[in-house]
Amino acid sequence: LSRLRRTEPSLRSFIHVADAAAEREAVELDRRIASGEKDAVGPLSGVLVGVKDNLCTANMPSTGGSRILDGYRPAYDATAVRRLREAGAIVVGKTNLDEFGMGSTTEGSAFQVTTNPWDDSCVPGGSSGGSASAVSARQCVVSLGSDTGGSVRQPASFCGVVGLKPTYGRVSRFGLMAYASSLDVVGCFGSSVFDTATILSVVAGHDKRDSTSSSQVVPDYASELVSLDLLESKPLTGVRIGIIQETLGEGVANGVISSIKGAASHLEQLGSVVEEVSLPSFSLGLPAYYILASSEASSNLSRYDGIRYGRQVSADDLNDLYGESRANGLGHEVKMRILMGTYALSAGYYDAYYKRAQQVRTLVNESFKDALERYDILISPAAPSAAYKIGEKINDPLAMYAGDIMTVNVNLAGLPALVVPCGFVEGGPAGLPVGLQMIGSQFSEAQRVENPLNNF
Ligand code: GLN
Repeated sequence: LSRLRRTEPSLRSFIHVADAAAEREAVELDRRIASGEKDAVGPLSGVLVGVKDNLCTANMPSTGGSRILDGYRPAYDATAVRRLREAGAIVVGKTNLDEFGMGSTTEGSAFQVTTNPWDDSCVPGGSSGGSASAVSARQCVVSLGSDTGGSVRQPASFCGVVGLKPTYGRVSRFGLMAYASSLDVVGCFGSSVFDTATILSVVAGHDKRDSTSSSQVVPDYASELVSLDLLESKPLTGVRIGIIQETLGEGVANGVISSIKGAASHLEQLGSVVEEVSLPSFSLGLPAYYILASSEASSNLSRYDGIRYGRQVSADDLNDLYGESRANGLGHEVKMRILMGTYALSAGYYDAYYKRAQQVRTLVNESFKDALERYDILISPAAPSAAYKIGEKINDPLAMYAGDIMTVNVNLAGLPALVVPCGFVEGGPAGLPVGLQMIGSQFSEAQRVENPLNNF
């Protein structure tokens, strides 16, 4: 907590800090343990977690990074948050994000700009930039984010932490402010794979309040982790890895390519077979994603009508009320997405845009399916560059969208993907981190690959 208090004025990872309440909860936990209460200790007792502010929390404001929800205090916890609390975790605050998750830098927040702990002139990535920077600076131990098109994985890469986007449906979306419902997932940040696996086990699982949540059994992800015996020369023997060819070409920073290739040859030294694999529809994913995500957003965001939640404005009639609330309450990027989405869905344009994007989604699915029949995992960078300067892309939305090329396909196919730090490029006082993305088949989060030389 003292580190959080010391670093928060320069990082601004949190929209709402609940440090005093967290301290009281910790003191109460100590008291219960000292008095020998039997069920005082849960798997995450006393662990400080940060929660992205598009997840509802009962006793704290939940803004989604938007003015339109200023002052909104939900009556309930999102299921993922409730499960963390039931396991004993202490929610230490609500982390900053691009408004409703739309953006890649966290500069799209209506409230503040978060800085990157590795270089305070750089963005932390986004949209879950606050959750990534908070874990990176050890303001909390783990955090929750959401990933519609890369919002957990790209900030994890920019901030040098572990970020997991689970399979679509692995974690309940109940209480997550909807952006694009067919793509949205709740994801986890940690400073190690073990921490990330630990919170996934807590938050995953079926929830009757989200009909798209899966009822597949939830493994104990952390205990499924195998510590590789690095003294053994080839612990990854038998693992087939495909490195996605299309992600190492033009437009990708040299330092990123060399870090990923370095990681690939390390994996090879450990015994796996790494081969280049081509995903022909890879570059089509980006435009298809932006059509589909904006279309779904234009419908989902109609709930912010100025009546049900948040800020109240006075108006003469109903249309004025809608107009005034949305004109003042929503930011520029969000309005642009609503307009794009409404356009793509309108009669006369639907077949040309929305329907074609859905067809591309099928192609993307098929090419992943095909590649994942031949390889256990696919690897790529998590982003074409390391963190860039605050303000650098703020007036160039297309350049910002282009930065999502590595991540959006995974959401279109609903696959799980893990990002781990794998190197540095020059920049900042100590270099800027680069993340390696590892993509698996649906529900393969706990997958072990049989190694004929080992008994695990
Ligand atoms: N940057 C992408 C977008 O703006 C992804 C955001 C996300 O995953 N929430 O849509």
